[in-house]
Amino acid sequence: MSVTPTGPNAQNPRHLPVSLWLLIAAVLIAGLSACIAGMAAAGRAPGSAAFLAGVGFFAAAQGVRIKVSFRGDRLHVTWTETALIIALCLMSPGWVVPVAAVGVLLGELAAGVAPIKSLYNAATMAVGAALAGTVVHVFGGRPVVPVSWSGLLVLLVATAVFLVATTSLVAAALALADRVSPAAFVRRVGARWLLPASGVACGLLAVLLRVPSFHYLALVPPVLWLLYEVYRDRRRVGLERRSWQAFAAATHDLNRLDAPAVIESAVRSALRLFAPDSVEIALLHAGLPTQVHIGRPDGQDIRVTGRRDELPRRGEDPPPGRASEPELTADEYTRVLTVDGERIGRLRLEFGSPGQLGEREQLRLSAFADALGAALHNATAHGRLREMADKKAYEADHDPLTGLANRGSLLASGDERLRDGYRDGSPQVSLLLLDLDHFKDVNDTIGHAAGDELLRAVANRLANAAGPGETLARLGGDEFALLITEPPVDRPAIEHAADRARELAAALSTPIEIAGVALSIEASIGVVAAPDSGCAMAELLRRADVAMYQAKKGGRPIARYAADRDAGSTDRLALLAELREALSTDDQLVLELQPAIDLATGGPVGVEALIRWRHPRRGRLGPGEFVSAVEQSDLIRPFTRYVLNSALSMMADWAVEGLDLPVAVNLSVRNLLDRRLPAEVAELLRLHDIPPSQLILEITETVMMTELDIIDDVLAGLRAIGVQLAVDDFGTGYSSLTFLARFAVDEVKVDQAFVAQMADSPEAEAIVRSTVELGRALGLRVIAEGVETDDQRAALAAMGCSAGQGYHFYPPMEISQATRTLFELRDATTAEVITLPHRATHEA
Ligand code: C2E
Ligand code: CA
Ligand code: CA
Repeated sequence: MSVTPTGPNAQNPRHLPVSLWLLIAAVLIAGLSACIAGMAAAGRAPGSAAFLAGVGFFAAAQGVRIKVSFRGDRLHVTWTETALIIALCLMSPGWVVPVAAVGVLLGELAAGVAPIKSLYNAATMAVGAALAGTVVHVFGGRPVVPVSWSGLLVLLVATAVFLVATTSLVAAALALADRVSPAAFVRRVGARWLLPASGVACGLLAVLLRVPSFHYLALVPPVLWLLYEVYRDRRRVGLERRSWQAFAAATHDLNRLDAPAVIESAVRSALRLFAPDSVEIALLHAGLPTQVHIGRPDGQDIRVTGRRDELPRRGEDPPPGRASEPELTADEYTRVLTVDGERIGRLRLEFGSPGQLGEREQLRLSAFADALGAALHNATAHGRLREMADKKAYEADHDPLTGLANRGSLLASGDERLRDGYRDGSPQVSLLLLDLDHFKDVNDTIGHAAGDELLRAVANRLANAAGPGETLARLGGDEFALLITEPPVDRPAIEHAADRARELAAALSTPIEIAGVALSIEASIGVVAAPDSGCAMAELLRRADVAMYQAKKGGRPIARYAADRDAGSTDRLALLAELREALSTDDQLVLELQPAIDLATGGPVGVEALIRWRHPRRGRLGPGEFVSAVEQSDLIRPFTRYVLNSALSMMADWAVEGLDLPVAVNLSVRNLLDRRLPAEVAELLRLHDIPPSQLILEITETVMMTELDIIDDVLAGLRAIGVQLAVDDFGTGYSSLTFLARFAVDEVKVDQAFVAQMADSPEAEAIVRSTVELGRALGLRVIAEGVETDDQRAALAAMGCSAGQGYHFYPPMEISQATRTLFELRDATTAEVITLPHRATHEA
């Protein structure tokens, strides 16, 4: 068995170096001499039948080569060692030389090896066989079958000599032809010693098994040929299947969503499928890169050149200086890419020489090109859709003239910020509304086009002045708005907004040149901050508009929103009509709950119900915006009933779920002037089956200043039912102490203003401290309102205040969220309470 590495040895004979020609000549002469000398030394010739059988045997051994992949190398495996050992046992060693040489020559030619190379290999064979024959001759002549151990040894040595000789000659030729160093070649062959070794082993085994006979030999070529055909067939089927699998995977991989990815995949796949030297894809269809290349098998060279904007559109000349369009004609290695009959480019493979693709592979190339065309078409179509969708989305949110956010997107982003802000306490959101003065005059004097240009210039100025955390929008006409969502922590949102208004006015003060005319721009700016109580973006915008109008009317550049000058918010009649309607539904007026927290244990001591109005048009309104109007109308009774009913029905739900916490409901002074209140409260408590002591009614000190008789009666009535009473906003009235002396209450709520100033103002601190002490002396619960920081919490706890309420713990929350929170809080703190005695028992 000999191994011929396949490789770049298919050189054109004319290019062989002279030294190689000399070597070939020398080896040919040596081979011929070896043949002649062998025949002369051997004497009696074998019969012509035996001679032909031997030749056929060697031809088969050399010609029926099998391609194998071995350690990453592709090799041809031949069987000459085996043939040599058998032949040495069958005929005189001298005759083996010409028989082997002729056989190898025929075998090589039959396998399609170039004549010069076949001749060289035959001569090599002759030289090797002669040396092997000499070894056999020297050690006692032809071994007789069955071969003795010494005979086997002789055969082994002879084959070794043969292998060394032939390998060296091949190495020499390769070294001269391919500049493969002999050392490298020997290393390469040496690494595969197993193949010749197993050939030798086969030969020796055959000898031991007494196979060598001319009858068998005659059988070898047809049997080998048959086996070879079967092998080749199976191999072809296997290759075919694998290549179709690879093809299917490659076309599948073409399904990408953008054209460059399709092209990259196509280049990579074409390299894998057809193994060309390089792949080129050139496109000339609008929307695709013009020139796209080129992948080489090392895989490093995949690149896409040409940009969309360089593209010649259909029917347009290519930009000057650019290569002309690639020719779109198909040949052996080129396929035109078409979509719906339209030619969009080409796919071309490059090979060193023609004839590298068989018929099947050419068909496969056509199919691949079709798949590529379709994939490119899909990718472009998808790209256009995506662009359209992006454009639509952009247009929906932006003002076409200036590119700024439009009213809709300002409302949406503002509402989101407000929602988040109210969830966490109070939103630090403010809004500026800016309206250019005398814009109409400008438009009328210098024309609409110049007016548009002016608006764009103003938009630019404002955009440059806007900072992070600010959204600039054009609301239409000459109206712009700036939404400010991240004011500095140390400055109230409204003050910061006023600062920004001054800065925007300053940014517009330098004249703007439009159509050669320098125009000085003035604007009126309305400033508003979101109230703590709750407000939707639409309402904030309306208020900013009111402020802006106030600025214009007063001839000032900037005005802050003032509720008392807001006709919209003081339009009580409209508001009350809407409220009457809201009371007949159950989804406009809703309660939020704010827990009061035990400062010692962190557990909930109760919750306060706070009313919110989800106004269908004005957005979210806090009690500050409508309760005072309600209090001055006849709606106060149904409103209070609505709130009490909502709170008690929620408590009934809680009872079912296993939660019982006192709930505080706020009353107005007007409620306490209504003698029917106690009966109504009692009726509602009965209706919902709630123990009266679970309900806390919060009243303010202002009741001191009104008709005391009725109030005395109403409060006595409420006490008689068994509900608890709390004084709200304690410390703000004129006669707090008198109040406590007069009315028996269960709870005092320290007003949040004192809690807020406690750290800075000794007076505030004194009021809080004395309220806590007074409460303790009178046996009342004291709840501090508006606790916003941990320092406040700690100070209050140190004073002995029993409970606190405020953003530091929780903001007012929707009922469902508050319920979840209360369950968690209760479970966490109950667990602690239960473990305490348990631990005590252990220690005892
Ligand atoms: P209030 O009874 O003093 O309620 C506490 C107010 O302080 C609530 O404002 C609450 O959201 C807010 N607050 C809570 N924690 C903090 C904090 O840490 N810092 C600050 N700065 N504020 C905090 P809200 O909900 O706007 O209520 C305002 C007032 O409206 C209430 O003052 C109460 O007097 C009245 N009110 C609320 N709901 C009702 C109701 O159903 N009926 C009546 N008649 N009045 C109500
Ligand atoms: Ca209250
Ligand atoms: Ca209060």
